Amino acid sequence: MSKEQLMPYEKAIEQFEVVIGLEVHVELNTKSKMFCGCKNEFGSEPNTNVCPICIGLPGALPSVNKKAVESSIAIGLALGCDIAKTCRFARKNYFYPDLAKNFQTSQYDEPIAFGGKLSIELADGQSFNVEIERAHMEEDAGKLTHVGGSTGRIHGADFSLVDYNRAGVPLVEIVTKPIFGGGDKAPELAAAYVRAIREIVKTMNVSDARMERGNVRCDANVSLRPKGQEKLGTRTETKNVNSIRSVESAVRYEIQRQAHILANGGTIIQETRHWHEDRGYTSSGRVKSDAEDYRYFPEPDLVPVEPSADWVESIRAALPENPEKRRKRLSAEWGFSELEFRDVVNADLLDVIYATVEAGAKPQAARKWWSGELARIANAENKSVEELAITPAQVAEIQTLIDSGELTDRMARDVVAGVLAGEGEPRAVIEQRGLKVVSDEGALIAAIDLALAAQPDVLEKIREGKLQAAGAVIGAVMKAMGGQADAARVRELVLERAK
Ligand code: ADP
Ligand code: MG
Ligand code: ZN
Repeated sequence: MSKEQLMPYEKAIEQFEVVIGLEVHVELNTKSKMFCGCKNEFGSEPNTNVCPICIGLPGALPSVNKKAVESSIAIGLALGCDIAKTCRFARKNYFYPDLAKNFQTSQYDEPIAFGGKLSIELADGQSFNVEIERAHMEEDAGKLTHVGGSTGRIHGADFSLVDYNRAGVPLVEIVTKPIFGGGDKAPELAAAYVRAIREIVKTMNVSDARMERGNVRCDANVSLRPKGQEKLGTRTETKNVNSIRSVESAVRYEIQRQAHILANGGTIIQETRHWHEDRGYTSSGRVKSDAEDYRYFPEPDLVPVEPSADWVESIRAALPENPEKRRKRLSAEWGFSELEFRDVVNADLLDVIYATVEAGAKPQAARKWWSGELARIANAENKSVEELAITPAQVAEIQTLIDSGELTDRMARDVVAGVLAGEGEPRAVIEQRGLKVVSDEGALIAAIDLALAAQPDVLEKIREGKLQAAGAVIGAVMKAMGGQADAARVRELVLERAK
């Protein structure tokens, strides 16, 4: 498939005003599913967490998961929404193999939360107010895996597998009002919005919020209108964009694609589109009209949800500190420079650093690990740092060993490599790889003697005050010791010898 023609981005935003609308699905981390007692668990054997209710056998009766309602209310409150005094579920009817019931139990005209807003700050400090239309409860569908073919999509596949473990997992869908005024920053704004939602639900611990697992998914609506025109342009809806980076790229791509079509007298078709992460383009999905007929009707098997004012207020009282406030507080506590802190936030490292500090590392050391070595490794593997096979607690443990002199920096990097390679906990890696700082002074002195014999002028230079001459000897000793000597101690010993 070839890319469509694109207008250069600068030219596109010069001619057109960009309007975006974001629908974010958040999978809740409740113990059980939305309407039955099946486990809500990622990674189980396919089709083991299923029952007559979530696969819709005739006569099965659903009931609402109270915890899921509580989490939905909490999300609504965190987004500044009003909470409905009463609301109902509805059946959204459609046929697709990932939906054994042939309808999705969702909310339609009576969402649990509505009318909120969220202030979003971009990397450059610009801030925007995004208005939230509603947040409603629904259930997830099963997961299809298309086998064969080249794209992983249904077209061209030899066969498809379906796993209903995810069917019936509670979701909250958060829908924005159309967002104007993003200007040339619309793609960044879309990404920052999704990041903010993810940060909120993660801080609240109502979702695992792991985008690579699909816990947070975004449908990005984009339309353009000629500058000065009142009427909104026709939108496209790019479905299931599953990383923050992709949200930005997909919106940018749609702007450039639509601008090219419009500038050449074409029209935009209201349709869903797919984002191809690997090659960075969107392709046409299905045509979708506003009046798409899902034959919504109120769910007859569930009573309305009527959260009492007391309950809502107790949920409000238990909300954690909002992420913006938390950032301000941490920034002060950690003592990073403004630039360091901004880099941490922009690189999405706040949470891992927080967890590493909680586990006992000093903030600066935690920052250096995650924004240095570990970010580099994650980048090279095209992952987020959270996807690396090392936890904040392990990083903190390794850092503690550096601080106590049991590991040199270089050895610590080896330990990290070992943990990442699945060799076990830091202690086990140290054991297996034989990584111990050589503290046997005799061995150090012998190595220093050898190095000095090879570079006889060094001691004289040190005596003349050229301390940097010691570097060559320290280097040779470290090499002889396989990097496992304490460099600071070696330096001390060399300087002593020059006295
Ligand atoms: P759908 O069922 O088609 O997904 P929703 O109401 O759930 O409709 O979501 C539509 C999203 O698109 C909302 O975020 C809305 O603000 C946004 N939107 C509506 N019209 C436009 C438009 N012309 N351009 C960009 N976004 C739009
Ligand atoms: Mg929608
Ligand atoms: Zn079930």
